[in-house]
Amino acid sequence: MVSAGAKPLPSGATEVAQRRVTLLGATGSIGTSALSVIAERQGEFAVEAVTAHANADKLATIARATGARLAVVADPDRYGELKSALAGSGIAVAAGPAAVIEAAERPADTVVAAIVGAAGMAPTYAAIRAGAQVAIANKECLVSAGAVFMRAAAEAGVPILPVDSEHNAVFQALGGRPMDEVERIILTASGGPFREWPSERMAKATAAEALKHPNWSMGPKITVDSATLMNKGLEVIEAHHLFGAPPQKLEVLVHPQSVVHGLVAFTDGAMMAGMSVPDMRMPIAHCLSWPQASALAGRRLDLAELGSLTFERPDLERFPALRIALAALDAGGWATNVLSAANEIAVEAFLAGRIGFLEIARMVEQTIERVAADSAPQTPATVDDAIALDREGRLRAAELIAARA
Ligand code: NAD
Ligand code: MG
Repeated sequence: MVSAGAKPLPSGATEVAQRRVTLLGATGSIGTSALSVIAERQGEFAVEAVTAHANADKLATIARATGARLAVVADPDRYGELKSALAGSGIAVAAGPAAVIEAAERPADTVVAAIVGAAGMAPTYAAIRAGAQVAIANKECLVSAGAVFMRAAAEAGVPILPVDSEHNAVFQALGGRPMDEVERIILTASGGPFREWPSERMAKATAAEALKHPNWSMGPKITVDSATLMNKGLEVIEAHHLFGAPPQKLEVLVHPQSVVHGLVAFTDGAMMAGMSVPDMRMPIAHCLSWPQASALAGRRLDLAELGSLTFERPDLERFPALRIALAALDAGGWATNVLSAANEIAVEAFLAGRIGFLEIARMVEQTIERVAADSAPQTPATVDDAIALDREGRLRAAELIAARA
């Protein structure tokens, strides 16, 4: 049904029910892009709940603009601020991590999982269990506990739809064909700001330099991950779970133009590529309307203007984070969980100026070795196991960082 006051449908268009959407991480980079898609597609969506970490003001503005029913701030100290900012609006207000989970569980057709890091695990899991279709941007969930999330989605009978541009491109290129018809899945990487830097120069790279991504504007953590190429490692692990692809079918190519996002090579020799200008609104819009498709305004790809596209193999010597992530995938679910946890701590330490750029990968590798030596870590069987192992990984990483400083 189209809501009262909505524009009449153009002739020939089919009337579709309004979709109820919840945005976890509404104030971030993905959250902002999702809001822009929702604003453009007036009448297609109704916003159920919006959540954020600590920016109560921005969250209140979003809640009012979207007419959300509930706004939740994860930091309990911001409750008063959010409550007064939404006074008289009729929008319900809550605070604290448990309230974020409750927001995720409210009846919704689609939940956009756009919280950064392991903090997104419990709410995203709750959304799946509650039976929502999850548009997943938070790659750390699948890296930390991919098997748990995929099993929960299968049990709930809901799809996990990939927002990450590479996976969204692969999802579209696959077109529902089974994995035994697939020879290879290729994820592209821009190569980040240090693609051509020698290691000696990278060792001295500053946070400001690492935060200058050549093609994408994103949150700080993923931007640093793109500079180390850890992001591509996380994405290979994400692809393994999302598509049920064995590690040997997954490949990475550096493609500095960020125009071809993902490719699928089939067993008959054909190859399908997912291409677009780098704009996260497109994969988000695809997930929000799926399985339907809707138009989206925006910049279009002009291949003649581009002239040429280039591809090269990643340099695992200069970018050890990718090598470490691929080794973690081979080692198993415990190792990818610890990889993600340690990486979050190491990136935080780098952004705070406490460790050098090349130390990010070193700290992650040492944390995985330390956790393996200290205990006999198992692949998490539940989301609680995953959160507990993640906590251990964080502690070990923090200790290692403190010890070297
Ligand atoms: P961001 O830092 O811009 O936003 C993160 C969001 O999470 C914010 O709304 C913040 O308030 C919320 N948040 C942070 N910590 C929280 C906590 N402890 N509890 C509750 N909420 C918390 O990050 P982003 O760039 O939007 O990325 C979000 C996720 O999507 C990441 O996992 C990232 O890897 C993934 N992703 C992002 C992009 C992109 O273009 N930005 C592309 C692909 C995948
Ligand atoms: Mg990506």
